[in-house]
Amino acid sequence: MAIQKLPLHRLPLPPTTLQHTLSELPLADQPSAQRRATTFKTDSEGVWARVNPLWSPWPLRMTKAEALAMGVEVDKGQQVSVEDVLARWDPKELEHTGIPHDPEEGESNGLNTFSSAHRMKLEPILLGVSTSTLNDALPHLTVGDAPTICNRGASPSPDATPAALVRNALVDILSGRKVLKSETEPNEQGNEARQTGEQKDYGPWSTRYCGHQFGVWAGQLGDGRAISILETESEEGGRQELQLKGAGRTPFSRTADGLAVLRSGVREFLGCEAIAALDIRTTRALALLTSPLPSLPVIREQGPEPTSLLCRVAPSFIRIGHFQALNPAASDVGMRQFFMGGSGWLNDQTENGDQDREGNLEGLRKLTEWVKGDIMDMKEQSIKEWVEEVVRRNAQTVAKWQVYGWMHGVLNTDNISLTGDTIDFGPYAFMDVYDDKHICNHSDPSGLYSYRNQPPRVLFALEKLVASLAPLIGYEATHSIPPPSGFSEGLSKETRKEWEGKAEEVMDGWEKVFWEVQKEEERRGWTKRFGLKTYKDSDDRDITYDYFALLQAHSIDFHTSFRLLSKFRPSQVISDDSGSSSSSSEYLDTFASDFIQQTTTSSATAAACTIDSVSPAKDAFKSWLISYAARSTADEEKTAYGGIASAQEFDQAREKAMKAVNPRFVLRQWVLEETIAKMEQALTHPYIEAQEKGKQQPEEWKVDEGIREARRVLAKILDMSTRPFQPYGEGAEYPGPGKGSPSSSKAEWEEDRRLCGLGDKDMLGFQCSCSS
Ligand code: AMP
Ligand code: MG
Repeated sequence: MAIQKLPLHRLPLPPTTLQHTLSELPLADQPSAQRRATTFKTDSEGVWARVNPLWSPWPLRMTKAEALAMGVEVDKGQQVSVEDVLARWDPKELEHTGIPHDPEEGESNGLNTFSSAHRMKLEPILLGVSTSTLNDALPHLTVGDAPTICNRGASPSPDATPAALVRNALVDILSGRKVLKSETEPNEQGNEARQTGEQKDYGPWSTRYCGHQFGVWAGQLGDGRAISILETESEEGGRQELQLKGAGRTPFSRTADGLAVLRSGVREFLGCEAIAALDIRTTRALALLTSPLPSLPVIREQGPEPTSLLCRVAPSFIRIGHFQALNPAASDVGMRQFFMGGSGWLNDQTENGDQDREGNLEGLRKLTEWVKGDIMDMKEQSIKEWVEEVVRRNAQTVAKWQVYGWMHGVLNTDNISLTGDTIDFGPYAFMDVYDDKHICNHSDPSGLYSYRNQPPRVLFALEKLVASLAPLIGYEATHSIPPPSGFSEGLSKETRKEWEGKAEEVMDGWEKVFWEVQKEEERRGWTKRFGLKTYKDSDDRDITYDYFALLQAHSIDFHTSFRLLSKFRPSQVISDDSGSSSSSSEYLDTFASDFIQQTTTSSATAAACTIDSVSPAKDAFKSWLISYAARSTADEEKTAYGGIASAQEFDQAREKAMKAVNPRFVLRQWVLEETIAKMEQALTHPYIEAQEKGKQQPEEWKVDEGIREARRVLAKILDMSTRPFQPYGEGAEYPGPGKGSPSSSKAEWEEDRRLCGLGDKDMLGFQCSCSS
């Protein structure tokens, strides 16, 4: 049966929702409360706060004319109150989406869209939509003609066609022009009356978390620029939460603006889809938006930049830091730390001494029950079993990052999810030239989160989770039942200590499990990437270790090397009856030469990697290739490949298997930087040109063409990121249309080949910074 597709605002809520299950953080009833940085006490049970998206420059700007229109006589020295300005953003008026409700769609989800005249002035521009996210996570969502517009860079049709109406309704909600909330009746004062009882208000929210940043306790953090708007569920896509990143100030924004620059949105939009395509657990990207530079500039070190708003999707965005917020460790809270890049000493939340240090165990219990039962579907299992699953999943995820040479860059405890999903894409990078000490984050000079440090740093984060959960695990072990509601009422320090001690006892050895799972997953990954179907203990040394020693010693490109290995013909090296040893040594020599050449030099641009001398690298590789050829043609491999008759067939089967796991396209730093630069140029050039010519407004057609160009550039890289194993521009020359190449013309084939190249030497190992 075909899945019934619904527009965003009609998607059904799951039977349980975060805000109907977890406690709300109290905010004052003033428009500014949602935007004012607020530090909540650790004994608060709350997890989330109501926050409407506010996609606006910060500090807020207002023209004199607007102030006058509000009745403020600025000429007479009257001041505009921030409450009045923010009130204009309040989404109080019921809006209509323009899409008539089709009774065939079934039950209403009880939500409606609200806005305000001021909010409707936003000028959102849709830049990209991920159809893979739609297929995988939200198969029940219809986005109208959004993919057509984005993928072909076509102009949106102004027609009131159903497809255009659905797309516009989507963009209205994702940009915050319209806010999706429970239908509530205005009371006499014109304010919304909160419904009481079972069915509470449902509307956008942000959450509070704490965490360790670069190994040190950073106190309260929270969703500083992320605002969730909806949870939904479908049989095929499972449970999903939609979150807007870069949607404006929240109570957790501290001194920052709550916004995201275009480059940070593009990096996350493409990054998570590239990771998903490599079959690694990750949050997903649904759509990327921007706004015209003059109306919404984001001010960063280099001056104003175009903004971005990313709609991301995941079963949950709960991180280890959420648990730390409800039960921070005594040793952490006692420390005062200077926050990196921040403006001063953090509130270390110890004013109440021991009182605060106790956190809120009831809140912790509820959060645990929620993530374990509702998000991870483990209601029947114990808390201990659930923690072990969290450990296992994160061990698998970090192992896969290693296997694909991917570095997260900021493995703080607030960037590690419970579900094992890769989360918060910032200064991440795929490895270029192999170096196990590589640091991808420019703001991490000591290399705490370098490539080889990733597994131990994920373990560190998990240690913090286990410590926070200790009272619950200990209670469960002591009483053989999960902690019931109110279990911590009147808890004495002694009992708490006993539970924590018990937890330590029952969790004993979990770190060992982490390492076992991590090593096993890595081993599985390498075995596949080397085209092997069986595993021998000696592979770790003879195949994997030796190979990386060669890559490292001779500055060889990580991904190109694996892809090229798929073309290696072991049968030509292992001489059987038909092969003479002279032809085998000739083959080996030619293969090794090409291999070194192609993995150290970009085919499209100038020489990329430097290599002191090709000859020693070639000799070293030849001897490795000989052992590899022997290993990959061993009898057990032949059997595992299904007892393939001829050597040629076997080689071909190996190549096919290897090409399915060794990407041809890699979202390298140079590709990202080029994509971002092209998009920025396309979107900002018309405005810069107009300014240079002394004009008030740019020509409309130039703005439109710039948007279309930005969409085309993004769609191209998104497409390659989501299908990385395709043979883009591979082989000696363009095979012609419909002959197995994904490129539809020779020109495209050449461009694809360039995009799969190593790039400019200067860009190898390029580092990004945290700031975004
Ligand atoms: P990240 O390094 O992206 O994981 O961010 C660390 C913390 O800083 C998180 O709590 C973010 O929500 C917050 N943050 C980062 N950038 C901004 C911003 N532009 N505005 C508000 N909060 C931010
Ligand atoms: Mg983060």
